[in-house]
Amino acid sequence: MASRRRTLLKVIILGDSGVGKTSLMNQYVNKKFSNQYKATIGADFLTKEVQFEDRLFTLQIWDTAGQERFQSLGVAFYRGADCCVLVYDVNSMKSFDNLNNWREEFLIQASPSDPDNFPFVLLGNKVDVDGGNSRVVSEKKAKAWCASKGNIPYFETSAKDGTNVEDAFQCIVKNALKNEPDEELKCACLDSEEEEKSPCSSNCRCQIIYRNYIGL
Ligand code: GDP
Ligand code: MG
Repeated sequence: MASRRRTLLKVIILGDSGVGKTSLMNQYVNKKFSNQYKATIGADFLTKEVQFEDRLFTLQIWDTAGQERFQSLGVAFYRGADCCVLVYDVNSMKSFDNLNNWREEFLIQASPSDPDNFPFVLLGNKVDVDGGNSRVVSEKKAKAWCASKGNIPYFETSAKDGTNVEDAFQCIVKNALKNEPDEELKCACLDSEEEEKSPCSSNCRCQIIYRNYIGL
């Protein structure tokens, strides 16, 4: 049997500005952390090749470029997401209280076919700060929120020292795969090095990803 095609997984990271979304992504993809605050980054997304249960995936992680403050993320940002990562700062109650808004916003904008079962993962970040002394959101409170939203997986992370970052992203990949389209809906053009041979339907994943990429 020929080896399986590589699959693209689109993951988006949402949460208040400053909670550490860009830092988590950089820690996971580049194993780097910076204390400097940078509201914008050059690229819309970072990619990482990941292996999961003997299959290779291209994980495409979409980050906001600071627009989260103005809540003006376009539909292209949300479209075709396989998993939505919600991030709050354990030292900020406001960032925790806003999780409902981010979740709702995602469900409205991405309008997944089965909203009740769409995979979310929650990260409580910055657990390293002040040795945990400035923490205001307890693990219990966060877990209760996750339970109330259909058992969302929860990780307490530090983008600074790397705590739980790898484990969290493993879980994110696993959950993104739950959303994998049926085999017959997949299209070879996504992974083909050659030019696309047969036209795809406008609902094909490759078209969705392409439209996302060029910002339509
Ligand atoms: P974003 O706006 O959600 O993308 O947040 P950033 O990734 O830009 O991080 C905001 C600030 O928090 C930056 O100064 C980071 O260095 C800092 N930061 C992010 N994650 C952590 C963390 O886990 N621990 C600590 N101590 N600082 C963090
Ligand atoms: Mg950022």
